Amino acid sequence: MKPLRIAVFGGTFDPVHFGHLRSIQEVQDRMRFDKVFIIPNRRPPHKSDRHPAPFNHRLSMLRLALGRNAVIQVSDIEGRRGGPSFTVETLRQLQASRVGARLFLILGVDSFAEIGTWKRFREVLDDCDIVVMERPGRKERKGASWIPLEVRRLYGYDAAKGVYRNKANKTLALVRVTPFDVSASAVRQAVKEGRSIRFLTPPAVERYIQEHRLYR
Ligand code: ATP
Repeated sequence: MKPLRIAVFGGTFDPVHFGHLRSIQEVQDRMRFDKVFIIPNRRPPHKSDRHPAPFNHRLSMLRLALGRNAVIQVSDIEGRRGGPSFTVETLRQLQASRVGARLFLILGVDSFAEIGTWKRFREVLDDCDIVVMERPGRKERKGASWIPLEVRRLYGYDAAKGVYRNKANKTLALVRVTPFDVSASAVRQAVKEGRSIRFLTPPAVERYIQEHRLYR
């Protein structure tokens, strides 16, 4: 039997927007994972300069955005764990609860550029296959320039498959998604300035932000 293919898409999602949603849908259409977990962090280890909206608000907005989707689901695994959210721990926890599954980590090219600063990042690279999504508004990337140096030297290029591969036989690939140049910071900024966020995030999320007076 083939192992289950489970993908993890982590982030702060403060708030979730169509850039996240459309990208993850397109990756799923291509990769056909058995399950995709969207995992909001409880405390982002990398964005300590500002406090995000409380975890439960970010989780609720994700749930509203996703609705009942059998494959792409929201997971509160990092909310239930104490302390800052480290991906290496989340992957270990998922692997322990789904022995034999093949784990994938999905992230935008901007987050991937910082992976060398993550806690025990080498273990992350040895624990899962990595799918990096292009993101608009950043500089044009040629060749392997989207891979940070400290990561690049751990991988060789597998020309037959068109992916990079490391010693643990885990792959690293860049996928193109329809560019949608929206960010959570742009959404928050618009709310703060009293501008509309219509068509940047689903209507239910828009209403939630209004009702809970977030980002003012
Ligand atoms: P902020 O503006 O607050 O930095 P963000 O919009 O980048 O937030 P995050 O929650 O930090 O959102 O992102 C979660 C993941 O989604 C990251 O891997 C990020 O690269 C990716 N991502 C965010 N926005 C987009 C987008 N418009 N297109 C593709 N990927 C995106």
